[in-house]
Amino acid sequence: MKIALIAHDGKKADMVHFLSGFKNELQGVNVELVATGTTGSHIEKAGFKVQKLLSGPYGGDAQIAAMAAQKELGLIIFFRDPLDKHPHEPDVQMLMRICDVHNIPLATNPATAEIMIKYITTQLEWNQKL
Ligand code: PGA
Repeated sequence: MKIALIAHDGKKADMVHFLSGFKNELQGVNVELVATGTTGSHIEKAGFKVQKLLSGPYGGDAQIAAMAAQKELGLIIFFRDPLDKHPHEPDVQMLMRICDVHNIPLATNPATAEIMIKYITTQLEWNQKL
């Protein structure tokens, strides 16, 4: 299962903190991480293996949307910063639209992401035991 990670600048620390809280769970199952460029660098520094795409404003969100449209992603965690402006807002909207078109799970805040990660890692653990 591939999980895509994106965090706006004001939410990058939250993303690292969030993932670090699930390090054991994530490393115990067959999960691959992919992220927009700068988010990916932060995640990498926290000790995760992650495939880094372009930075969000340079097309990274669009790359993740393309992966979602091709059904390559099981989950997208996108910590948006609702209190800041983003030059690539059209890409952000496009990514969310593509998720709805293709019914891809999308978590835009830590509370939702926590429920999803717990569910997915538990399911994957069960599958690995079968
Ligand atoms: P970034 O992109 O990880 O390269 O900062 C995130 C974003 O879409 O703003």
